[in-house]
Formats: sequence, C-alpha cells, structure tokens
Amino acid sequence: MRSTINALAELVFGACCPGCATPAFGLCLDCRQELRRTPLLLGQCAGIPVAAGGAYAGVLRQAVLAAKERHGLALLGPLTALLEDALQALRPSLPALLVPVPTAPERVQQRGIDLPRDVALRAARKLRAAGCDVRVRAGLKLVRTPLDQAGLGAVARRDNVCGAMSWRSGEVPGGVIIVDDLITTGATLTEAVRACAASGVAVTGAVCLARPVRNA
Ligand SMILES: [Zn+2]
Repeated sequence: MRSTINALAELVFGACCPGCATPAFGLCLDCRQELRRTPLLLGQCAGIPVAAGGAYAGVLRQAVLAAKERHGLALLGPLTALLEDALQALRPSLPALLVPVPTAPERVQQRGIDLPRDVALRAARKLRAAGCDVRVRAGLKLVRTPLDQAGLGAVARRDNVCGAMSWRSGEVPGGVIIVDDLITTGATLTEAVRACAASGVAVTGAVCLARPVRNA
C-alpha cells in the first residue's frame, strides 16, 4: 500500500523523501527507521541541561531543513517522536511547561508551519495521553524580528537575537523548558533564558530536534 502511495506521489506531485530523494510523501520507511536509531544528545548550553533528538547530520539534518523549507506537515510526525524522546531524557519534574522559541509571523506564513511550536504541541499531546502532565504555552514573544540565524557567525548570532524576546506574562509554577528546532551556538537559547529570567521565570532545561555534535 505504501509503495503504491509513494509511486503515486512521484507520478502526481514529484514528491520525494528529503532524506534520500526516493519518491515518497515525507520520509521513506528506511529514513524513518534511521531517524529512530539516531542517538540522543545530552549536554549543557546557556547554563541549563539540553537534550537533542540527535546530531544535526545525515537524515535528521535533511529532515529538519526540509521541514523548515517546504515539507513541514509531512515531517511533523517523525520529528515529534524525536522531541518526545529528548523530553523524556531530560527527566523534567511534572507538571512541565514547554515554551517554544517564538518564530517571526512572516516566517511562519512563508513556511506554513511554526516548527518549534508545532512539535512542542504534538509531543505534549502524546505525553499527556501517556499520563504525563506536559503543557505548552507561548510564553515568549518577539519584541523585534531578528534576521534568520542561518549563515551568521557566533558573534553575529548573539547580537542578532540579543534583547529580541520578552516574557508575555503569567506565573509559572516550577520552571519552564524551552523548545527549539535547532540549537547551534546557543545564542537564541541564551536570549530565551535571559527574557524568562528578566520576568522572574526560571528555565530548568531545553529540548531541540538536533544539535551539531561539536556544540553538544
Ligand atoms: Zn528516504
């Protein structure tokens, strides 16, 4: 059945797997399996523990890039599974509040999805169904729109996002867990932690889909 769907995908839409370019809607079965075998990365960044779904390389890198650029909806399922694993590895105290890093509205409109928010919402829904009290709140907002961080060096990234976020409002029992798609130099995470701390909100950890190995 799946091969028929994939053949149809190629015939009608020219759709291909972002991992290996064979005809498929979203990731093909082989690439999905490879993603499931990707080892989690645990480390520290911006003074807090960080868990990533895997190293930013190979199929995972292609999947994250494709999700941000053009195939977001088809990739949300497998990417959410990685975020769930990363969250569980962080062993947060429950109830846990996930706060996605805010994405500029024009970027959400271009991409059709808000990757950090959408994977956070899906992962929280699945974890709640499994009996874990995990919720999502858009606690952070952009007070100005930074440039896309891709292509910027470490210092430029820090300057680009410095002071760009603020905490909306509202009390948080316990601490929050920041969710992002990628954590590279940690500039965005540092800004998120700063914005939370400026309103007295503690950040106890962060999760992301992928991190370059050299930064983990
Ligand atoms: Zn593939």
